[in-house]
Amino acid sequence: MLQINDIHVYYGNIHAIKGISLEINQGEIVTLIGANGAGKSTLLKTISGLLKPKNGDILFEGQSVAGNVAQAIVKKGISQVPEGRRVFSNMSVEENLELGAYIRKDKQGIREDFDKVYQLFPRLHERRKQQAGTMSGGEQQMLAMGRALMARPRLLLLDEPSMGLAPLLVKTIFRIIKEINQSGTTILLVEQNANMALSIADRAYVIETGKIVLSGTSDELNQSEQIQMAYLGGH
Ligand code: ATP
Repeated sequence: MLQINDIHVYYGNIHAIKGISLEINQGEIVTLIGANGAGKSTLLKTISGLLKPKNGDILFEGQSVAGNVAQAIVKKGISQVPEGRRVFSNMSVEENLELGAYIRKDKQGIREDFDKVYQLFPRLHERRKQQAGTMSGGEQQMLAMGRALMARPRLLLLDEPSMGLAPLLVKTIFRIIKEINQSGTTILLVEQNANMALSIADRAYVIETGKIVLSGTSDELNQSEQIQMAYLGGH
């Protein structure tokens, strides 16, 4: 579904992604694991069109999307839930969700997706008139995910959905990520919480300073001594 071929991404003369290649198959949950500053967010932003790779290519369903603007990428079926949620704080929950569907014209489909999002996140339905900026961190995370789903993506990019959330809420968010995947959306998940990420992902890539240093199925990485020591608290 998504194929990344040897991309390099720079911020000015900082070489943040140094030749990354990876692939995501339809229906999978794939996770990117790595320490602070490894380049995980940079990679997601490059896929979603917020950054342009200097070299290399990104193919989505066989078509090159590298260097497309963000709106064109959303239209092609890729949505991102950014790190730190970024909801429109002065708007209501409902208005935030409407904005997620701004590229669509199929009114019936949009109505169906409102229902689906409210089914996944009953809390958003309860709070649909509330100003988004007054919601808790967890509720804002749900809203950011709901808003991305309103574009009806085939590939959903999630940047650190567990950041700053209490453990119980992290569990809920991960359960919902799994549900979204089971209803047919392919997922690329960036996480510092490697334990949780590997518990729901099919496969994982480990990034260190802009390069992939290891990849495999979640089971393989869970059993890797190197990963246990570096990312899973060792045993
Ligand atoms: P974190 O988990 O802390 O978000 P990350 O793996 O997502 O880390 P990135 O945010 O992708 O890492 O950063 C990769 C590298 O690029 C880091 O060295 C970072 O300092 C640098 N970088 C990120 N954004 C910018 C920017 N706007 N300008 C310059 N350098 C940047």
